[in-house]
Amino acid sequence: MNFAIRDDDVSYWTNPSDLESVYSGIWEKGFVVSFSVIPFAVKAVFSGEKDKFYQEENEKPIGENKELVKYLKDKISEGAASITLHGYSHQYKFSAGRRYPLFYPTLENLKKHLNGTGRGKMTCYGEYKWKPYEQLRSETMKGEKYLEDIFGKKISVFVPPGNAISGDGLRPVSECGLNLSGTMRIIKFNREIDFYSLKNWTLKLFWRLLYHRVYPYVMNYGDHRELCAYDLINRKTIDELKSEFLFCFKKNAPFVLAVHHWELLKNPPLLETFKEFLEFVFTFKDVSFKDLNSLYGG
Ligand SMILES: [Zn+2]
Repeated sequence: MNFAIRDDDVSYWTNPSDLESVYSGIWEKGFVVSFSVIPFAVKAVFSGEKDKFYQEENEKPIGENKELVKYLKDKISEGAASITLHGYSHQYKFSAGRRYPLFYPTLENLKKHLNGTGRGKMTCYGEYKWKPYEQLRSETMKGEKYLEDIFGKKISVFVPPGNAISGDGLRPVSECGLNLSGTMRIIKFNREIDFYSLKNWTLKLFWRLLYHRVYPYVMNYGDHRELCAYDLINRKTIDELKSEFLFCFKKNAPFVLAVHHWELLKNPPLLETFKEFLEFVFTFKDVSFKDLNSLYGG
C-alpha cells in the first residue's frame, strides 16, 4: 500500500523553520512530504479563524523567498519532499448570500459588507470557483511554468485551493496536463458528461452506498486523473483517521493524508493526532512512503 503526506499552503509567506518544526521527526522515519505550493500568494491573516480571517491583495512570487526556496530544493534533492501546484494566488472571494456581490475579504471590504450580519453567514469561494476560465487558463499555465523553473522539477499534480473546484476550474487544470488531488467528499456531478465522467461518478456512488466511503483508487478521466485525499483538519479524531486508513489498507488503495503545517502549529492537539497517526502508520510493514506525484500511475 502506498502512503503520501500532502501539506497545503506553502508560499512566499511561509517560514522554513515552521516546516522544519513540524516535519523534522517525520522525515527521520522516511516519510515523504508533498508540498502544495502557491506560486504568487496573497497574504492570509488569521487563517482558519472564521471570525478574524482576512487576506491582503498584493501577490508575492515564492521565488522572492530565497531561504524557503533553498530549503525546499534541499529537501527535494534528499528525496524527502516534492512539489505540486496549489492554485495561483489562493485569493478567496466572499459573499453575504446568493443575491449579494462577491468581494475580496480584505479588512476594509469585510467591514463594509458585514453590516451586522456576522461572518458566520458569509460564503467563501476558492479561486478555482470564482475566477473565469480564461483567467484560470493563463494563470495555471504561468504558475506551473514558474514553479518548474524555480524548482527544476516537472509539476504533474494540482491541489485546488480550499479543495474547491468547479467544472470551469477543472478545464484549465487538465489542459495543462495536471492530475487532481482533492478531498472529493461531495457526490455532486460537476464534470462534462462523457464515458469517463459517468463511469467515475457511478463508481463513487457505488462505493458510497456499499461502504459509506469515498472511491479510494485513482480515477481516469481520459485527459487527467484524480485521487482523493483524507484531511486532518478541524475536529477529526484519531479513530476516524485510523478507520479511513485501515479501510484503504484492506483494499490496497493509496492513502493521501492532507494537512496544513500552519494549522498543526496553531493547534497542538491536532499536531499530536498527526504524530500519533503517523506512528500508527509506521508500524505497518507493507506500507511504502511515496511522493504524491508518483501515485497516479502512467
Ligand atoms: Zn490552501
